[in-house]
Amino acid sequence: MLFQPVFDKIERPILIAGPCSAETEAQVMETAHGLKAQGIDLFRAGIWKPRTKPGGFEGVGTVGLGWLRKVKQEVGIPVTTEVATTQHVFEALKYGVDVLWIGARTTVNPFSVQEVADALSGVDIPVLIKNPVNADLKLWMGAIERIQKAGITRIAAVHRGFSVPGETNFRNSPLWQLPIELKRQMPDLQIVCDHSHICGRRDTLARIAQQALDLGYDGLMTEVHPTPDEAWSDAEQQITPLVYGEMVRNLTARKLTTSNADFLKSLDFLRQQIDELDERLLQLLGSRMRLADQIGEYKKSNNISIYQPSRWNEILEQAVAKGATLGLSGEFIEAVLKAVHEESIAHQSKVMNNVTA
Ligand code: PEP
Ligand code: MN
Repeated sequence: MLFQPVFDKIERPILIAGPCSAETEAQVMETAHGLKAQGIDLFRAGIWKPRTKPGGFEGVGTVGLGWLRKVKQEVGIPVTTEVATTQHVFEALKYGVDVLWIGARTTVNPFSVQEVADALSGVDIPVLIKNPVNADLKLWMGAIERIQKAGITRIAAVHRGFSVPGETNFRNSPLWQLPIELKRQMPDLQIVCDHSHICGRRDTLARIAQQALDLGYDGLMTEVHPTPDEAWSDAEQQITPLVYGEMVRNLTARKLTTSNADFLKSLDFLRQQIDELDERLLQLLGSRMRLADQIGEYKKSNNISIYQPSRWNEILEQAVAKGATLGLSGEFIEAVLKAVHEESIAHQSKVMNNVTA
């Protein structure tokens, strides 16, 4: 599937910034002037806010579109806002919003995405599509396809993290493997990191922004407010234009590649070694599964259950301890071993139940 770029390729990352919500005309204009001085590419502000609970600030509505138009005309920065319904799309288009974005709570619902797609039919405007709230890559890709089918060619993805159970350091866990897989499946899709909604706090914003750039992201979306502590929504994660400017200047942009022959040669050499190790890992996993098949046969003839909790705990504990001496995190070892164990159980189960395929 082919996508036209939403953003022209430049040396530095594409910078999208602005308040979580447009609150007042003065707040919008002050933020926009502050950000103009920092050199951003696109000004963001939520006009209709999807809130988890009723009673929160649900956005100023259409009046705010007039303020965005003023930003565009007086400050000279293109603007973007979130749309979730037909009416949002029509209003935003009427006010000359340059780029639309679909929020995480909309991407999650194919009915809503289809409604937005239908409203966009025959319109030529770039659309940014945030990942759905839950860690479902197909749903994200499905939303992208729905918008593309409406005839929109300039589409980019926005990675804003995923809601996962339990406490983590993130408001929305980045689960980097999902956007990486998205990029693998849709290589010409530009991707932006909304680190504000991933972090949910100020002190980790720079680190996550840098991580996104290290992974080759095309740009960043950041929530910026002139007086962050007083923001009407997402106060904890917003920063002032000055703090934003400083953060951006301290980021290191990464190039996708280089023509430096020495560098390419060394990289090639390292990659060859990685490929060889991967090959060995696969061979070892195959051998391990063949052993699992044998154990399955053996358990079957002795009528023993597949799952042996004490054995599994022992394997896990030993591996986590060993992993630590090799510089491998406990989470990583657990994730790998769980996947291996699951496959092992599937093999044994097949053998014990005489499934041939
Ligand atoms: C936002 O960008 O302010 C917003 C509501 O984000 P998300 O859809 O990622 O929650
Ligand atoms: Mn927000």
